[in-house]
Amino acid sequence: MEMAGAVGETFYITETHRTEERQNELYAQGREGNPGRIVTNCHGPDCPHVQDRALDVYPVRNGKPLIQDATPADMQVIGEVGKAAGFRWGGGWPQKDRPHWEVPQR
Ligand SMILES: [Zn+2]
Repeated sequence: MEMAGAVGETFYITETHRTEERQNELYAQGREGNPGRIVTNCHGPDCPHVQDRALDVYPVRNGKPLIQDATPADMQVIGEVGKAAGFRWGGGWPQKDRPHWEVPQR
């Protein structure tokens, strides 16, 4: 967050730890007839959010987090700051997950 401040940004963290139950609920979303869009390809105990190795981060403008309205350019800043802080950034993956930062497996 200090690194975000250094480039004039404020970030908002939406999720860090997930229980395995919540992770599996998110995995089910958009699959097998469940409503919503697919938001994750990970289920089970090895998921980064379940292992406390991941967080999801959004930009803030005028005091409000841009969760639905962030542009790709906004999210690129999230990625650049996250990578500079030593995280792996989901925005560089084939199935982009732009808010997602994670540390490598322990
Ligand atoms: Zn994530």
